Amino acid sequence: MIPYGRQQISDADVAAVVDVLRSDFLTQGPAVPRFEAAVKRATGVKHAIASNSATSALHIACMALGLGQGGRLWTTPNTFVASANCGRYCGADVDFVDIDPATWCLSPAKLADKLVHARKSGTLPNIVVPVAFGGEPADMTAIGALAREFGFKVVEDASHAIGARHAKGAVGDGTQADVTVFSFHPVKIVTTAEGGMGTTNDDAVAAKMARLRTHGITRDPDEMTGSSPGPWYYEQIELGYNYRLTDLQAALGNSQMTRLEAFVERRNVLAARYKEFLKDFPLRWQTVGAATRSSYHLFVVRLDEAARRDAAFVRMRDAGIGVNVHYIPVHLQPYWRARGFAPGQFPEAERYGADALTLPLHAGMTDAQQDRVIDALREALR
Ligand SMILES: *Cc1c(COP(=O)(O)O)cnc(C)c1O
Repeated sequence: MIPYGRQQISDADVAAVVDVLRSDFLTQGPAVPRFEAAVKRATGVKHAIASNSATSALHIACMALGLGQGGRLWTTPNTFVASANCGRYCGADVDFVDIDPATWCLSPAKLADKLVHARKSGTLPNIVVPVAFGGEPADMTAIGALAREFGFKVVEDASHAIGARHAKGAVGDGTQADVTVFSFHPVKIVTTAEGGMGTTNDDAVAAKMARLRTHGITRDPDEMTGSSPGPWYYEQIELGYNYRLTDLQAALGNSQMTRLEAFVERRNVLAARYKEFLKDFPLRWQTVGAATRSSYHLFVVRLDEAARRDAAFVRMRDAGIGVNVHYIPVHLQPYWRARGFAPGQFPEAERYGADALTLPLHAGMTDAQQDRVIDALREALR
């Protein structure tokens, strides 16, 4: 089976992990700050806070931005469930904004409409979570302008998009969102097995995320309730979690980061090959900006008809091609239906979810493997 995504592990990655195993610190040692520094260098951001998943990074990002009971978080239905769940972890209500028909990311036009209505009913969101779908950033300029006009915070879920660029710089550089979150799950661009990272240029948000990652404990006298009696002293000043990344994982991530450009470049080459060889197929793919650079976490094709997609999915799997569907719209999941969502509410995302097919794409895929995928797709569409 040619998988839709797969990690790339080098001998240097293995050696980096083994070095940690032989060192004094398996966790809370020097590897985590080193990995955070690598992400800061790659993005140009001021602060990077590593965590044990993107899901936990989303949770503490929302908390650090003040989301709580009775708050409101909006996201796109075309995402992994974690982009919405972070709002529920904080006790907030979650709603969705439909996608753009060409970019498949959260639509700024639909967001603007929904905000106007929400202002009238006094139900404006506290946080909006756009997703850099497939590695292509959402229209962060338009979303940022709406954030200033309507007074919400932006948590960018860039789980797909380390190494991608928005029109003015690297995704996660801290200029386009209050916090940007990356995932290091093995199918993503760079891996730590499980792992995530939040980036921000806001000193207070960064300090709060770092504290929430470690039980709400601080050793910084400036953050304490009174004066510190001595260097042994620490205080728990709020309710946090153990969301730490281990040094084993961080060493893997740090070693992987040295190949970030090569990973993203190879993904772009494979995406360009798909577009070249599929151009006469009855398909379409995601529109990406001329000024942006996608990290091509995913290469999704639309078959424009649910029955054709369903048949192609089965035929491709039978042919040993690990196609997938990203994503079944989140609001159609039973958990969200039980919270009042129903089919028909976000029609663009629903059409997308019914006719989209993810083709294999990862940095270790060979041209010959990709040719096999293309041949199998030709057969499947007959
Ligand atoms: C993978 C993913 C997540 C969750 O990442 P984890 O590191 O597995 O917690 C969140 N959002 C999106 C869009 C993802 O693709």
